[in-house]
Amino acid sequence: MDDETTKIKAIGSEVKVNSWINLEVKIVELWNAKSDKIAQTGLFGDDTGTVRFTSWKVSNLPEFEKDKCYIVKNAVVNSWNGKLQLNLNRKTEIQETDADIEVSVKEPEVFKGEIIGLTNRTAAILKCPKCSRPVTKNFCNVHKDITPKKDLRLGLRIKVDEDVKVVEFRGREAQRISGFTAEAAHSYEPDDFLPDLERKLVGKTLEFTCTESKGYFYGKNARVLL
Ligand SMILES: [Zn+2]
Repeated sequence: MDDETTKIKAIGSEVKVNSWINLEVKIVELWNAKSDKIAQTGLFGDDTGTVRFTSWKVSNLPEFEKDKCYIVKNAVVNSWNGKLQLNLNRKTEIQETDADIEVSVKEPEVFKGEIIGLTNRTAAILKCPKCSRPVTKNFCNVHKDITPKKDLRLGLRIKVDEDVKVVEFRGREAQRISGFTAEAAHSYEPDDFLPDLERKLVGKTLEFTCTESKGYFYGKNARVLL
């Protein structure tokens, strides 16, 4: 294949699933891998946008460092849960560069809508203090033995224009919307919690931004409007 590089914006339009491409990117984010088959996962960025990548352990590629720039040759466009991402495999070549790439990050869209219901994911939960994954006991799949922290998770059905969005809020966001601290949520009678919260929240107007991961929406910057 030739040395022509592709801009991230072209992925999904000019460049389709299963294409092999070369890119010049900056490492915008590195995330904790959810599987032990994954060496690294995160976000590539260039001046046209960002795209998620996965580097597999079996491919034995050099490690990326956050905020450094690389030429990545032979990455494969792949579709995961309806979203396009890049797979790095044994044929992928990675070369660090001195270039500094200005990454284009889209401003998050602000949504505004009425809360029309709560989902049964609404609950007082426990989370890992290191990675915030929900846990059931003193054990995180990634961080092993931990002392969990109390948290509150809200699953809200929000009517935004003609659309109903199901958005999850946690931590401070959930507390700000519900008026409950994590502690208070945990000491509430569990059977009364959802119906009482529903009475309190349904009909209120919420302003928020959200990020999508694997088909779920996670809300941020929540503001209950009067
Ligand atoms: Zn953890």
